[in-house]
Amino acid sequence: MDYYSKQINRLVSELASLPGIGAKSAQRLAFHILNMPTENVEQLSVAILEARNHVCYCKECFTLTDDEICPICANQERDHDTIMVVENSRDLAAYEKTGKYTGVYHVLHGAISPMLGIGPGDIRLKELLQRLQKDAAEVIIATNSSLEGETTAMYISKLIKPTGIKVTRIASGVPVGGDLEYIDEVTLLRALEGRRVL
Ligand code: ZN
Repeated sequence: MDYYSKQINRLVSELASLPGIGAKSAQRLAFHILNMPTENVEQLSVAILEARNHVCYCKECFTLTDDEICPICANQERDHDTIMVVENSRDLAAYEKTGKYTGVYHVLHGAISPMLGIGPGDIRLKELLQRLQKDAAEVIIATNSSLEGETTAMYISKLIKPTGIKVTRIASGVPVGGDLEYIDEVTLLRALEGRRVL
């Protein structure tokens, strides 16, 4: 049963298709948007469109960025021989927030999950191996401590070990099943400092 106009229904259903937005929140947001001044609505829609059109993957580490090479990879002060492997750009941001990590990153954009049908070919693993053909001293695996994160860590360490490059895994200061992005900086640093060789 449709209680609203077609246009409102359309807006509500678009908003409801976003992650974490249920039917009620979608309605609340829709009516909020309808009450906003037109220019603010324009700013919002332009911001969404421009971000979608201009944000791309860094050619080195595959994080989301505005340029061909992200500011971290472009920074010559960083230690380019130490590569921290993370599941997504939000995890990268969590480690960057600590301000203590001086190496670079590699963003997988996911984790291996046989349950969800996500295999090694579905994340940026091939790109990591290509990167490692250049000089690398250490690969720090900082995937989440979920089943998927651990599976991915094991898989990566098996792939890299034969190359002789040092592979480490962040320590379990990170709670089991915990998403890196929600963990405080002290815990993240402790996990990084306590990393062990695989
Ligand atoms: Zn980069």
